[in-house]
Amino acid sequence: MVIIGAGPAGTTLGLMLQKQGVDCLILERQSRDYVLSRIRAGVLEWGSVEILERLGVAVRLHAEGHIHKGVSIGWAGSQVLDVDMLALTGKPMVAYGQTEIQKDLYDAADERGLPIVFEADVTLHGVDSDRPSVAYETHSGSELVHCRLVAGCDGYHGVSRITVPQEAKTEYEKSYPFGWMGILSETPPLPQLLYANNERGFALCSERNPMLSRYYVQCPLDDTVDEWPDERFWEELLARVPASAAERIVTGPSIEKSIAPLRSYVVEPMQWGNLYLAGDAAHIVPPTGAKGLNLALSDVHYLAEAMVASAGGDRSLLDGYSDRALQRVWSSVRFSWFMTMLLHRFPDQTPFEQKTQEKDLEYLASSVAAQTSMAEQYVGLPL
Ligand SMILES: Cc1cc2nc3c(=O)[nH]c(=O)nc-3n(C[C@H](O)[C@H](O)[C@H](O)COP(=O)(O)OP(=O)(O)OC[C@H]3O[C@@H](n4cnc5c(N)ncnc54)[C@H](O)[C@@H]3O)c2cc1C
Repeated sequence: MVIIGAGPAGTTLGLMLQKQGVDCLILERQSRDYVLSRIRAGVLEWGSVEILERLGVAVRLHAEGHIHKGVSIGWAGSQVLDVDMLALTGKPMVAYGQTEIQKDLYDAADERGLPIVFEADVTLHGVDSDRPSVAYETHSGSELVHCRLVAGCDGYHGVSRITVPQEAKTEYEKSYPFGWMGILSETPPLPQLLYANNERGFALCSERNPMLSRYYVQCPLDDTVDEWPDERFWEELLARVPASAAERIVTGPSIEKSIAPLRSYVVEPMQWGNLYLAGDAAHIVPPTGAKGLNLALSDVHYLAEAMVASAGGDRSLLDGYSDRALQRVWSSVRFSWFMTMLLHRFPDQTPFEQKTQEKDLEYLASSVAAQTSMAEQYVGLPL
C-alpha cells in the first residue's frame, strides 16, 4: 500500500497496517519539522483515545492529556451553562494537542521502522486501474512505486482528491462568513472548555496542557493577524466571555497567532478505483465541534480494517468503506454545523434569527434531554 500524507490520518493508518503485517510506504510533501510545528486541533473524543491506545501510542497522552468532563457555554452576557458530558454519556473528552499526537505517532514510526519519506513531490498514476503506481521526487532523486491500493490522507490541499475526475465525485460545501482568530499563550487555561455566544461575536477558551492555553475570537474573513496585536485580542476575548470567566482568565504574550476560515466540505464517494480518501482529504468541518481530527482517526480505523481484510483476499469491507465512513462523517458535519450556527453571530443575522438562536440556547439550558443529545454527539458516536 502507498499512503499519501503523514499527518494524523496517514501516520495512524500506516501504524495500523504495519501492526497487522501489511507493508506500506508513507509519502509526505513537507519536512518532518514543518508537520510537527503546525498548531491545530486539541480535543479528542474518547473513541479516538481508544484508537491510539490500541495502537500503543497513548502513554504520553494519558500522562499529559487533560480529562474534560464537560464544556461550558456562555450567552446573553452573564448566563453560563455547564454541560456535564461525563455524567450525561459516561464518556469524557481529553485535551491533548495535535502536535503532541503527531510527535507520538512519528516516534512510534521510528521505533517500529515504518517508512515515511518526507519532502516528497508525489503524482498518482492509474489509481482507477488494477495496477496503480505512485511517482515521487525528493532531493535524492525520483522513484516509481507499483502498489495494490493508495490511501489519500493528504489533507484538503493534497493531490489525491484532485486526481479524482470531476464527473466521478460530488462535492458538498458551505462557507461561513467569518474566521477564527486564534492564539496560543503559555498561561494556565480555564478548568473547563468555554464557548461564548456574545453580541460582539463568538469566543472559545480551550487548552493544550496545564500551562498552554488556546483562545479564539470570531473575526471578519478579511482580517489579518497584524490587525490583532495581543492587547486587542485579550480585550476582545475578555469582553465576549461571561464576567465570571473573564476574571479568571490569565493573559500573557501570545506564542502563536493565526486566522482560520470556517468551512464545511464533503466529497462523495470517498473512493475512486483503488484510491481511498481519509481525513481532511475527504471532508472539512468548522472547528466548533472539535471533530476534524477525530473524524480523521475514525476514517482510518475503518480503512485499516478494510485494507487488512483485502490483503487476505476479502474486498467486501473495501467496497463498503466509503458508505461506512460517510455515515459518521455526515453526523459530525451536521453537528459541527449545528454548533457553528448556535454559537456565532452572523453578519447578516436578522432579529428573527437572533431570537430563535437565543431560544435554542435557553432550551438547551433548560432541558436535560437537549443537553444529552448535544453531549452524545460531542463525545462522539460509537465507531
Ligand atoms: C488552523 C487549523 C486549526 C484546526 N483546529 C482544529 C480543532 O481545534 N479541532 C479539530 O478537531 N480539528 C481542527 N483542525 C482540523 C484538524 O487539524 C484536521 O482535521 C486534521 O489535521 C486532519 O488530519 P489529516 O491527517 O486528515 O490531514 P492533515 O493534518 O492536513 O495532514 C495531511 C498531510 O498530508 C500532507 N500533504 C498534503 N499534500 C500532499 C501531497 N501532495 N503529497 C504528500 N503529502 C501531502 C500535508 O503536508 C499533511 O502533513 C484544524 C485545522 C486547521 C488547518
